[in-house]
Amino acid sequence: MKEIVVLRLGHRPERDKRITTHVGLTARALGASGMLLASDDQKITDNIKEMTGRWGGDFFVENNVSMTKEIRNWKENGGKVCHLSMYGINLPDAVPELKKHDKLMIIVGAEKVPGEIYELADWNVAVGNQPHSEVAALAITMDRIAESDPLTAVFENAELTVVPTAKGKNVIHDNELKEKNRTE
Ligand code: SAM
Repeated sequence: MKEIVVLRLGHRPERDKRITTHVGLTARALGASGMLLASDDQKITDNIKEMTGRWGGDFFVENNVSMTKEIRNWKENGGKVCHLSMYGINLPDAVPELKKHDKLMIIVGAEKVPGEIYELADWNVAVGNQPHSEVAALAITMDRIAESDPLTAVFENAELTVVPTAKGKNVIHDNELKEKNRTE
């Protein structure tokens, strides 16, 4: 299975809280192993960890990492680095190459991304060459490079599991699930 880690750059605690949380939750929901946050915002880390505790899986979040150290470390350990930027090569042209690699770091920015990142990345990839959002760019990229459908993934050890329904909400709590399995 592909190992994907998302590196979030340029997070400004006073204005990017929601979007960085959404970057983390999207990364988790679509099959990444974890998110590295290259800013100091422990609350984001705690919130995502708390969500993972309830919704399952073992997604990790690391707060306040050094971006260049993480990128170099990743590459020294055989990983490849894909920086998402509207200026890069368009995703459909990059997918065949991205799919060849088992260990991928996906970098997304917030404010202006330092020029050094464009040089350190193995690929600068655009999800269409129009400006939009890091959350959308990440989701589309992860979906396009996935080996199996990420929308049908099962998260282990979840306290809460949604049962898809056409109307309303149906959520099973861990204890109900255990009880159901016991009586079946
Ligand atoms: N103004 C910033 C700059 O010039 O680097 C970009 C701001 S944009 C809202 C934040 C992030 O969204 C970017 O760093 C990039 O990771 C992602 N992004 C936005 N549009 C994108 C696109 N078309 N393709 C890939 N990534 C995109």
